[in-house]
Amino acid sequence: FVQFRDVYKSYGENLVVMDHMNLDMRADDRLVIIGPSGSGKSSLLRVMMGLEGVQGGQIGFQGKPYIHGADSGRSKRIDAKLQKQIGMVFQHYTLFPHLSVLSNLILAPVKVGGISKAEATERARVYLARLGLESKLHAYPSQLSGGQKQRVAIARALMLEPKLMLFDEVTSALDPEMVIEVQNVMLQLAEQKMAMIIVTHDMHFARDIATRVVFCASGKIVEQGAPADMFKCPKEARTREFLEKVL
Ligand code: ATP
Ligand code: MG
Repeated sequence: FVQFRDVYKSYGENLVVMDHMNLDMRADDRLVIIGPSGSGKSSLLRVMMGLEGVQGGQIGFQGKPYIHGADSGRSKRIDAKLQKQIGMVFQHYTLFPHLSVLSNLILAPVKVGGISKAEATERARVYLARLGLESKLHAYPSQLSGGQKQRVAIARALMLEPKLMLFDEVTSALDPEMVIEVQNVMLQLAEQKMAMIIVTHDMHFARDIATRVVFCASGKIVEQGAPADMFKCPKEARTREFLEKVL
């Protein structure tokens, strides 16, 4: 479903964030990426979303070539059709503050998804209802709690009916009660078999949602495995050291 082959990315000459990385994800996988701060987790998601290029290697998505490395790392060789099938949610809500919830949701589907405003509005109602936000259709982001904003951000990403969702520490700026409501939405998506790549520092949540946990450090995948195995008996010393600090 997703394949990284020998993917290389660095910022400048010395900071290598993907050091010939190989990664395989199945369509029914929910990968949780863990690792120290600065280990390149967000970079990996931004690359997968097509927001940044890589200097070497290839990334395949749904069995097709999706991204090719280019020497400069700038010229993005990306299949735009495949890119549209990926949704991403960030740590800090990136809703447009001057637009209502409804307008935030229908903007992309109408502009790039090519669907009518009426159809997009109907779809927005469905997603908001599913996430328990039907009463907020006409609210503005400033009128929402942090957890509600993140759920709207998730609903917005779902509007284009992605095949893969990326989550970059979406709960780390939230108060504890709101963390749960956002995590519940993600668990609901997991039940519906949505493919996801999740970056989180919440190891309990990782255990609940992951089919596989991937531990990255210094641009490499140090270790990966089922959450029960990884958390109970990590094989690598580096993984153990990291988990001792965060568990
Ligand atoms: P955290 O857990 O703190 O979010 P991370 O694993 O997500 O860390 P990244 O944000 O991917 O790490 O960053 C990896 C490294 O690359 C860091 O050292 C960071 O400073 C650097 N970096 C990230 N983006 C850029 C950029 N646009 N230009 C230069 N360096 C960058
Ligand atoms: Mg990050």
